[in-house]
Amino acid sequence: NDITLTMIKPGAVKKNHIGPILGIINENGFRIKAMKLTHLSVDLARKFYAIHEGKPFFDDLISFMSSGPIVAAILEKENAVTDFRALIGATDPDKAEEGTIRKLFAESLSHNAVHGSDSNDNAQIEASFFFNQTEIF
Ligand code: ATP
Repeated sequence: NDITLTMIKPGAVKKNHIGPILGIINENGFRIKAMKLTHLSVDLARKFYAIHEGKPFFDDLISFMSSGPIVAAILEKENAVTDFRALIGATDPDKAEEGTIRKLFAESLSHNAVHGSDSNDNAQIEASFFFNQTEIF
């Protein structure tokens, strides 16, 4: 089956949204293959988001993503990448559909509750960013 990599971002962790978000993920048919509570250092956040380096929002993105603990998880489902992006909704919560995770839990475009991989290739890269083989089930 396909996988995707999600992060529950620092804002949603601080507001105690881990449980509700994981509930929605499970209700929608995703199986958790790996999961951890962790905290990205500035260096690791810059590495994870290297593709956005130079963009106007990069510095804010890095300081937000390293501002507190996150949950990282590998999710398994048929069409995991596409289906998970549908479940989380648009990057900007004002544009996200009703019932999506970002509509429910995001505070703003930059504090948008969750991450989801944007391709199968990136899902694999991002999964190995957080987990080694002994942590994946
Ligand atoms: P993610 O990669 O987190 O799933 P995404 O693929 O929907 O989000 P990207 O374009 O990859 O969005 O941007 C990565 C993250 O950077 C977004 O989730 C958002 O938090 C932040 N971001 C993107 N665009 C902006 C912007 N214009 N202003 C502020 N923050 C932004």
